[in-house]
Amino acid sequence: MTILDGKKLSNKIRAEVKNDVTQLQERGITPGLAVVLVGSDPASAAYVNMKSKACKEAGIYSIAHEMPETISQDNILEIITMMNKNPNIDGILVQLPLPKHIDTTVILEAIDPKKDVDGFHPYNVGRVVAGLDGFIPATPYGVMELLKEYNIDPQGKNICVVGASNIVGKPMATLLLNANATVDICHIYTDDLKKHTLAADIICVGVGVVNLIKEDMVKDDAIIIDIGINRLDNGKLVGDVDYANVADKCSYITPVPGGVGPMTIAMLLKNTVKSASKREVKEL
Ligand code: NAD
Repeated sequence: MTILDGKKLSNKIRAEVKNDVTQLQERGITPGLAVVLVGSDPASAAYVNMKSKACKEAGIYSIAHEMPETISQDNILEIITMMNKNPNIDGILVQLPLPKHIDTTVILEAIDPKKDVDGFHPYNVGRVVAGLDGFIPATPYGVMELLKEYNIDPQGKNICVVGASNIVGKPMATLLLNANATVDICHIYTDDLKKHTLAADIICVGVGVVNLIKEDMVKDDAIIIDIGINRLDNGKLVGDVDYANVADKCSYITPVPGGVGPMTIAMLLKNTVKSASKREVKEL
């Protein structure tokens, strides 16, 4: 069994991003990322912190707009409009989930698609589905890079994607389909999940349920990508896979932490630099 080391690959990508930023700076461009955080959910705040820190290390300018839980939708839209117009900002990211009184779709659609580094705007979703260049959501993008690093070609493989959200499962399935895999998408209403996972050469699971994928649901030598992040009562982070009992059965597996999580941050930085590189060159 080989561990798919997302920490190691993400460090390599972050070093490449840093190098790209230096080259952009020589052209008078410092990439900029604006992060919008609404409310005080500790997990969301922690993610925003991690993203800000990663930007700083890469030489990317970042600004966090932190707003109270009670803020109105119009106020958030005003900030997004401001960031859309700000020539120093290349990427705008709204940390999800948003409070219930905010319409997430309205907020995501307000972001200029050219600055939509999370790839959640329907414009980028459509481009990615059509196999065109567009911003690819960071988490599934990171999974694809991890597979590539370990020479795992999805073409012709039977892949079971468990979880079908707009930010994880659906774009994951899309990228795998674009890479010529045969994709089976499962979700909360799937009848007999085990039947689907047992038939898979690769299982990509991003659900948020501890130990959802158990030993008897995985065929020998399967490849397991665990996207889930769950915090146990003792503070420990685990994924959606019963790692202790499943790992030995697999040919490859991602650990949690240290698998997909660090890749997500690296790919967000990469998307921000990609956006900045399309900025019109300023006169020095
Ligand atoms: P979500 O709640 O929006 O979607 C969950 C999906 O799982 C839904 O499609 C739902 O139908 C499905 N589901 C729920 N229970 C199921 C069950 N018992 N069997 C089969 N399917 C089931 O969540 P999300 O935002 O897509 O996040 C999913 C997980 O991925 C979470 O643990 C989250 O923390 C994690 N995540 C990780 C990263 C990362 O960087 N590694 C990034 C984003 C999300």
